[in-house]
Amino acid sequence: MSKAGPPAGPQVRGSTLAAAVVSRHRDILWGVSLREPYEGISPIAIDGDAEHKAMTITWNDGHQSRLTYEWLRWNCPCAQCAGEGDAPGSLQFTSELQPEQTTLEDLEMVGSYGMTPVWADGHHTGIYTFRNLRGTCPCPTCESARRLAPGSTQ
Ligand SMILES: [Zn+2]
Ligand SMILES: [Zn+2]
Repeated sequence: MSKAGPPAGPQVRGSTLAAAVVSRHRDILWGVSLREPYEGISPIAIDGDAEHKAMTITWNDGHQSRLTYEWLRWNCPCAQCAGEGDAPGSLQFTSELQPEQTTLEDLEMVGSYGMTPVWADGHHTGIYTFRNLRGTCPCPTCESARRLAPGSTQ
């Protein structure tokens, strides 16, 4: 599965992903272009930090979102974790995450609009759209902006 990768997508760097994993999946990770923006906002780089179990997304407007893997896992949007409609998801009955649930094994881009983390426990059904990630960015700047304008996020 090698695409001659156009370097238009976000660069995935760093040690989140073991280097071997990154190079194995480089064609997936880099062979994307992110054209569906959050009002023109898209990631230009995703830097992994395996040691601290976190990643930093650098957006094309210069903003950076640091997302811990724990935060990501608690916010897994898939039906199994988050529930669907009236059906509760498994996270609702979870009080503590296991280490393998917050260990990132791989990161796959989904089309041009999102990403799916592959967790060490095998879970890989959560599609995090960049739009939502930016809209829920947990950094103090974004959090206070959301407080000032409640309901303005989607
Ligand atoms: Zn999930
Ligand atoms: Zn932010």
